[in-house]
Amino acid sequence: MPEGPTILNLKNKLNRYKGKNVVEATGYAEVDKTLIKDVKLLDVDAYGKNFIFVFKDFFVTVHLGLFGSMLINKRKKVNASFALQFEEAEINFYISKAKIIPGKPQDHFNYKTDILKDEFDGEYVLSTVQEKYADKMIGDVLMEQDLFTGVGNIIRIEALYRAKIHPETIVKNIPEKKLMFLIESVVNYAYEFLEQSKKDEVKEKTLIYGKKICPKDKRELIIEEMGKVKRKTYVCPKCQKKYE
Ligand SMILES: [Zn+2]
Repeated sequence: MPEGPTILNLKNKLNRYKGKNVVEATGYAEVDKTLIKDVKLLDVDAYGKNFIFVFKDFFVTVHLGLFGSMLINKRKKVNASFALQFEEAEINFYISKAKIIPGKPQDHFNYKTDILKDEFDGEYVLSTVQEKYADKMIGDVLMEQDLFTGVGNIIRIEALYRAKIHPETIVKNIPEKKLMFLIESVVNYAYEFLEQSKKDEVKEKTLIYGKKICPKDKRELIIEEMGKVKRKTYVCPKCQKKYE
């Protein structure tokens, strides 16, 4: 599944369509496409794993999901789930979920939790984690999109390794300083990921995701589904501490 930085990179390719007129929307997605007819695209943004297309009275979110993709001025043989047609261009989304939401994105989304937004507020996230997720495993909490918006499996695994925390640790057992360091690690790594994904080298530059041994002590990594999220998890049993 594409993670926040991948979506942000793709979104930046769409910036040139800001201010352009959308002739119509097409695709089999069950949204009211009659609303998107001869309307000006005011802005393009990303929120976590969503693309956002802003029009005057509403906005459209597109989520790529596990197998989704986006093509600009190119088409696949299969039908697009959602597409925006401009006079001289088109943006096609495949196997994606589109939604029309009335109002403005900033009234709908909490930008304080988006790991790649300037508005990201580490202290807000820290206190929310401690108040609302105290009894949950940190490996699961990192995947909560309302709290760590844009984090996917690679960011989750790499950040926990960098912060030396075992994903099965219960949040309330993690010392506050460690938790702060983890949140910093999530954001710092997300920006590394952003740069690496421009050159398509994210997977070759991970420290433990997709690897078999820990680069530090050469120990064999534990590779299994952990927690409630049921995603493949990589852990170094020596470097990553499970606080009790
Ligand atoms: Zn290790």
